[in-house]
Amino acid sequence: PIRTRFAPSPTGFLHLGGARTALFSWAYARHHKGTFVLRIEDTDVERSTPEAVQAILDSMDWLGMQPDEGPFYQMQRMDRYREVVAQMLAAGTAYHCYCSPQELDAMREKARAAGLKPRYDGTWRPEPGKSLPAVPEGVKPVVRFRNPRTGATSWNDMVKGPISFDNGELDDLIIARPDGTPTYNFCVVVDDWDMGITHVLRGDDHVNNTPRQINILRALGAQLPEYGHVPMILGPDGEKLSKRHGAVNVMEYDNEGYLPEAMINYLARLGWSHGDDELFTRDQLVQWFDTRHLSKSASQWDPKKLNWVNAHYIRLMADDELAARVAPRIAKRGGKPDAVDLAAVMHLLKDRAETLEQLADGAMLFCGDFPGIPADLAAQHLTETARAALADFALRAAAGEWTREALAAAIKAVLAERGLKMPQLAIPLRVAVTGRQQTPAIDAVLALLGRDVVLARLGQL
Ligand code: GLU
Repeated sequence: PIRTRFAPSPTGFLHLGGARTALFSWAYARHHKGTFVLRIEDTDVERSTPEAVQAILDSMDWLGMQPDEGPFYQMQRMDRYREVVAQMLAAGTAYHCYCSPQELDAMREKARAAGLKPRYDGTWRPEPGKSLPAVPEGVKPVVRFRNPRTGATSWNDMVKGPISFDNGELDDLIIARPDGTPTYNFCVVVDDWDMGITHVLRGDDHVNNTPRQINILRALGAQLPEYGHVPMILGPDGEKLSKRHGAVNVMEYDNEGYLPEAMINYLARLGWSHGDDELFTRDQLVQWFDTRHLSKSASQWDPKKLNWVNAHYIRLMADDELAARVAPRIAKRGGKPDAVDLAAVMHLLKDRAETLEQLADGAMLFCGDFPGIPADLAAQHLTETARAALADFALRAAAGEWTREALAAAIKAVLAERGLKMPQLAIPLRVAVTGRQQTPAIDAVLALLGRDVVLARLGQL
């Protein structure tokens, strides 16, 4: 059975890159009816916060990527890591190293002077027939992994294809510090092993960690997972995606009125493809997802395309569902979502909206207080002729049914009677009733505002 994981470090909000890797791992597990594990890598106690953990959980919840197992917390697994360190010491796949920081500095200096990569010289590495230095008094040792010295560590990356590192390039990695706390790469290894992870999909900033992790897994006799390293996301200018390019916090997109359906679709398509399909549902993503079509090259963030995708999902969404999602945004603006048939308002606005925020802005026409008529608009549009036409319209409208059709008919009748063109009545009507020159179709606006509101505002002219 397939088991994937998402293993964020809770040092800040969940950013777009993290959300996308999580999505790939989630989709891969779902596609294979496997298990998606969430593991919080919180061993960096200085930088990890409970708020960041919560932000990650909230973001995953919002995107609908609930884990099947977890969250597991590395800080709660310390005993287990210590246990594995002890096992490795006993098995001889790890050893104590008593080098002082000064000695290590000297080693680095020496290597640098010789034009070599700074590396551990193996002073404390046990070898057959080699005698080790005397253990110094009062020094707490680190534990190092006894990395193979010859040969190569290779894997067939699910994204990048064959990758190989010379073992000679890899140091004897420290797996436990003098105080016994395990180090990052080691915790990842023990977790992937214990959690039975079969497929690791992660950012390609981890490629250099992979050979080290593979060698430790081998030393433990563990089954190796498949690895896939996903290239990063670039901003529209080709630089690494960052705040300069706009929001990178996933939840900021919720604030800005993007639908999780759209985010999922857009993020999945960013770095993965299914033929020419740009729009697909969550179910289709799960059905179609494979690692073969993950892109080998970096993808570029494209806010315009995200808006286009979001507009698509807004149009697709049922009016009452949209109303439910926009109502709180209206309330936040001080508007009254209940003042109007909000689903009907959504129906009127949704063809032109790219975000829920834009819908909320548009809905304020119906849910907000009447702002009054700006003096300049009144002077320009509420002329004698216009006022007479408005009064005529008010009479006809009041006498008829209050439907969009009846109101359109009343407008036409006034135009015909007075020999006016549509804008000569439609604009004064907009100004008089909404205080704005531009609104959606005026008959629809009048119908939704309702008889009482419209006649009261016209009556006050
Ligand atoms: N905690 C790591 C990170 O947030 C990911 C580790 C992994 O996926 O192996 O970058």
